[in-house]
Amino acid sequence: MAVLFITHDLGVIAEVSDRVAVMYAGKIQEFGTVEEIFLEHVHPYTEGLLKSIPMLNVRKKKLDVIEGGVPDPLNFPPGCKFNPRCRYKIDKCEKEEPELLKIKPGHLLRCWVKA
Ligand code: SF4
Repeated sequence: MAVLFITHDLGVIAEVSDRVAVMYAGKIQEFGTVEEIFLEHVHPYTEGLLKSIPMLNVRKKKLDVIEGGVPDPLNFPPGCKFNPRCRYKIDKCEKEEPELLKIKPGHLLRCWVKA
């Protein structure tokens, strides 16, 4: 039996999941085991999500955030849907949407730069 659990709560994901699909703009951006996603993540959106978690043992004046806002589903940007918010983007990111590629067995990634 499998259970599909959809949440924005990364703490819950870490507790209950074996495999994690990180979604953005309706598509999987990164997929892997819970260990791969939390400890060996590659996608810039996954990186941003995990960096935005406040840590009790780290003092900061401001929390890390992913700059920009969620895109309008009726007017997605061309190319990679994350490109307006991505610090790693290259010209190709604004023109072509990357495919979801296997970067190692069981670990999938949708990114021109990090794949
Ligand atoms: S494809 Fe480009 S814009 Fe999209 S996540 Fe990767 S680097 Fe960023």
